[in-house]
Amino acid sequence: MALRKFVAGNWKMHGVSSDLDQVRAIADAARARPEVDVALCVPAVLIERAVRTAPGFAIGGQDVHPADKGAHTGSVSARMLVDAGAALTIVGHSERRDAHRESNEAVRAKAEMALGCGLDVILCVGESLEVREAGRAPAFVTEQLAASLPVTGTGSAALAIAYEPIWAIGTGKVASCDDIEDMHSALRQCLADRLGPTGDAVRLLYGGSVNPSNAGAIFATPYVDGALVGGASLKAADFVPIIDAAAGQG
Ligand code: PEP
Repeated sequence: MALRKFVAGNWKMHGVSSDLDQVRAIADAARARPEVDVALCVPAVLIERAVRTAPGFAIGGQDVHPADKGAHTGSVSARMLVDAGAALTIVGHSERRDAHRESNEAVRAKAEMALGCGLDVILCVGESLEVREAGRAPAFVTEQLAASLPVTGTGSAALAIAYEPIWAIGTGKVASCDDIEDMHSALRQCLADRLGPTGDAVRLLYGGSVNPSNAGAIFATPYVDGALVGGASLKAADFVPIIDAAAGQG
């Protein structure tokens, strides 16, 4: 089943008021490509202004706390993202799994909380270079997905999985299309095993140094339903050609 392509930008810890013109330009370009779903995941404090800048365009967060509310200094809840106007959130990005020691169980709890609050979720998985070189990447990543997969609220287009090999994030190194196909095929099987036919609607995104030059080949790769884009999502001049490439593969 061919799913609508989904291209999401991850601004990480980039973006202040003067960057809102990029949000506007990206939203305008996305509107011209209605066959592709496009979103920008911006810093939490920028969400409300981004939503006001581009009404109707999907703005997301980059993380949520698994609890509804409470004594969690500095954290942001799913309900707060919704209140700010967010439509989605990333959970389990490798930069958080690594720097914040997030376990699969914590990622699953975050995804369940976000879905329960009505946010769409991009759940990230991916192996280190060490794991890939040891030939353990497919087993590691499918186990990571199985352990992180929300058990509530799944099985719909509200959930997307982003396969992001850690060694390809922000490095300019891209996984080969053959490796992406192999991994996405294994992840698709994992979703079918866990969720049955309802898992068919869950989109599989690739992430890791996607740019305007390699996007077309990546979107043409079997089992690839879109991309999670970091550095190349910061400027409309880079991100819009990636959206266009996804539209070309619709
Ligand atoms: C990311 O941050 O999710 C990412 C894929 O980054 P980049 O595109 O810069 O490699």
